[in-house]
Amino acid sequence: MDLKELTKKVLMVSDQYEKNCKIKRDEDWYILKLHEEIGELTQNYLSYTLRGRNRNLTKEELKNNISHELADVLGQILLFANYHDIDIEKSMEEKWFSYLK
Ligand SMILES: [Mg+2]
Repeated sequence: MDLKELTKKVLMVSDQYEKNCKIKRDEDWYILKLHEEIGELTQNYLSYTLRGRNRNLTKEELKNNISHELADVLGQILLFANYHDIDIEKSMEEKWFSYLK
């Protein structure tokens, strides 16, 4: 699955989320939600690395939580980029892959 396909599916989920939770995804919602998800990723990473409450979860469960929060972060990045009409593939080419030349 490429980023455009991924974005399309993430948008479908986000549309459902907006409808089900009766929220409005306005301009700053996307960056605020991204920060929320980064916070959740950090919280789970702290637990995984024994610097936060482990909530009686196994190491495997804690790592699984990190993978889910990472997915949330990626989803929110794709939503933010889509909302602001940013081509993330082009951005990666310009910012990251320019170092490969
Ligand atoms: Mg989350």
